[in-house]
Amino acid sequence: MLISIVAPCYNEEDVLERFHDEVQKVADELLPLGHDMEFVYVDDGSRDRTLAVLRQLADRDPRVRYVSFSRNFGKEAALLAGLRHAKGDSVIVMDADLQHPPELITRMVDLHAQGYDQVIARRTRSGDRVTRTLTARLYYRLVNRLVDVELVDGVGDFRLLSRRVTDAVLDLTEYNRFSKGLFAWVGFPSTTFEYENAVREHGSSSWTLRRLLNYGLDGLLSFNDRPLRAALHLGMGLLLCAGLYTAWIVGAALVNGVQTPGYVTIITVVTALAGVQMIMLGVIGEYTGRIYYEVKRRPHFLVQASNAEPADDHAPCG
Ligand code: UDP
Ligand code: MG
Repeated sequence: MLISIVAPCYNEEDVLERFHDEVQKVADELLPLGHDMEFVYVDDGSRDRTLAVLRQLADRDPRVRYVSFSRNFGKEAALLAGLRHAKGDSVIVMDADLQHPPELITRMVDLHAQGYDQVIARRTRSGDRVTRTLTARLYYRLVNRLVDVELVDGVGDFRLLSRRVTDAVLDLTEYNRFSKGLFAWVGFPSTTFEYENAVREHGSSSWTLRRLLNYGLDGLLSFNDRPLRAALHLGMGLLLCAGLYTAWIVGAALVNGVQTPGYVTIITVVTALAGVQMIMLGVIGEYTGRIYYEVKRRPHFLVQASNAEPADDHAPCG
């Protein structure tokens, strides 16, 4: 049984060697149990010495394969590249920044042996800022009401995928990738276990508020067309209100005659409706924009250096 470790790396020069040492230790423990391991590291256009470190690791350890992007294409693209290059019977996806404790790999492999196709590590949010925890909770509650695939708080990209799950994920070729949702969409027997969140030791998280917001929107919009439906409902509701209000005004005019003042009402209604229309246009625009990117069929990433061939029939880039 071959296990592939897939790790996207963006500006991780400080931790990469330690990361590799630690997974290697786990690999040594698993070897006598009949599990071989390979390491697929994807350098996502880092600006630091990440690629140089990867080259060194590959020189020292023939099980290391690396793929380096021509620029920063984002974690989702890096994950996709990693999955394409993984040859294992099962694939473990994890961050290179040591926030996903390598010692949990043994547990994942055990659970996989019990017949689960996806073994998902769910982190507790201890150590996170309270505001972040609260917004996360709120967000997931909202999203799960709107989205068909269930997304769970704390569940990220630290998971083991069986070969058939990996192939299924690779068959989803959409340009706009939201892995969390893709993994959930694929399904197959899955199990989740919890682990304590580790605080990042080196570098800083690349998640800015803006990136988080966009990520949240992606989660909402990638998996359903319910916001469009919501726009329709809102429109119908507003139309109904407008009808009732018109009837009332006309009635009042018939009874009391026309009374001109109404400036406040007009301004309120005009601005409110303009706002609602803008939002609805935005919703439509979001979907149109997504279609625009999908139909271009651009590659998800471009590779500038690599010592790895992609596994079988999956295209080398894009
Ligand atoms: N990462 C990446 N490309 C990016 C940003 C991040 O490949 O544009 C990698 C990064 O090297 C790390 C993982 O994705 O291995 C998670 O990133 P980060 O630690 O910044 O996110 P967080 O842990 O805060 O979710
Ligand atoms: Mg991290």
